[in-house]
Amino acid sequence: MSEDDAAARLRSRLAEVEARLAGQRRLVDGIVEAARDANSDDEHDPEGATLAWERQQAGAMVARAAAERAELLAALERVAAGSYGRCEVCGQAIPAARLEVRPATTRCVQHAG
Ligand SMILES: [Zn+2]
Repeated sequence: MSEDDAAARLRSRLAEVEARLAGQRRLVDGIVEAARDANSDDEHDPEGATLAWERQQAGAMVARAAAERAELLAALERVAAGSYGRCEVCGQAIPAARLEVRPATTRCVQHAG
């Protein structure tokens, strides 16, 4: 796989993640607004509790997407530096099939996890 292909794949994933992230951030904003409108001064208010839970879930989704975005950006930097596609532990080339599934991975199958 050429570096151009790798960069193109990473950029296309990045665009997907950024679109997802934007949607999730709007969702979080909406929940925050709803919580404000719900006048949830009383923390035992069932609606307030539901909104707090929803906000927590949405916040976790945003955090996951943001982490994925950071991984993709780091991978693009490795493409630019010429170190993309090599395991950070053993230095061996990561198989193309693995990079196809996980383009931002920094490790070979043996050293993953
Ligand atoms: Zn390795």
